[in-house]
Amino acid sequence: MIMSAFNAIGEEREIDRDEFTPGVEPQPTWCPGCGDFGVLKSLKQALPEVGKTPEEVLTVTGIGCSGKLNSYLDTYGFHTIHGRSLPVARAAKLANPELEVIAAGGDGDGYGIGGNHFIHTARENHDMTYIVFNNEIFGLTKGQTSPTSPKGHKSKTQPSGSAKSPLRPLSLSLNAGASYIARTAAVNPNQAKEIIKEAIEHDGFAHVDFLTQCPTWNKDARQYVPYVDVQESDDYDFDVSDRAEAAEMMRETEDVLNEGTVLTGRYYVDEDRPSYTQEKKAVGELPEEPLAERYFDD
Ligand code: SF4
Repeated sequence: MIMSAFNAIGEEREIDRDEFTPGVEPQPTWCPGCGDFGVLKSLKQALPEVGKTPEEVLTVTGIGCSGKLNSYLDTYGFHTIHGRSLPVARAAKLANPELEVIAAGGDGDGYGIGGNHFIHTARENHDMTYIVFNNEIFGLTKGQTSPTSPKGHKSKTQPSGSAKSPLRPLSLSLNAGASYIARTAAVNPNQAKEIIKEAIEHDGFAHVDFLTQCPTWNKDARQYVPYVDVQESDDYDFDVSDRAEAAEMMRETEDVLNEGTVLTGRYYVDEDRPSYTQEKKAVGELPEEPLAERYFDD
């Protein structure tokens, strides 16, 4: 699919979805059936459809199976240490506010080891997309219990079943201050692409909890139960721009595990809150003109 876009120095050019596939293509080493393929595919489809060229995008990943994402995506990339994708992504965005920054990691990486960064990046509403590959376990290190593993989940680290209640990432994100919050799933590629597009186009911290099945280490997870799109279903009627209604919706539905369905879709969208970049420009700590104009002026 060919689309028209403007590159970093304002020149119009055509862009093809295939440009996001590396020329020397490393074959993904994810296991067959892994949900991570769904994230990669959604990004490759979404980026050109919102007019982004590879040289306009930075993808920052942490450690885990999800951390391989930027090896298979031909954008600028930074594979950083465990749980630290967000501080690196924040620094890059502040250095070059025109860069489209996408941070990614797993539930262990982002909600556990990097949980502190998650809270404060949401609180400050940094302008980026954060995709959390949520398979409810640590996949790369062979299936240990993660912050989103359901109570009772058995693993090598919790052989009798986890006694811990799982983290509620959507509610945490809302309370911390994220201005776009959605949940989607690798098994629902059309919805996933649309949500990734919205997240990229959103000004502010866009948190996408992306349910990714791990057929190797988590065979009984909710990633295998049917998904319901909250925007498509007549059973759910709430205003995504209303914080109280979004909070109530999350409280009622976020934790539904293996009870028939899992809900996906947009949970909260705040178009009015200024992003951290906008706040910095307003107080004069970031220049208004694009970086390209500063360096490519004649
Ligand atoms: Fe995917 Fe699980 Fe295999 Fe990792 S271990 S590549 S998460 S299926």
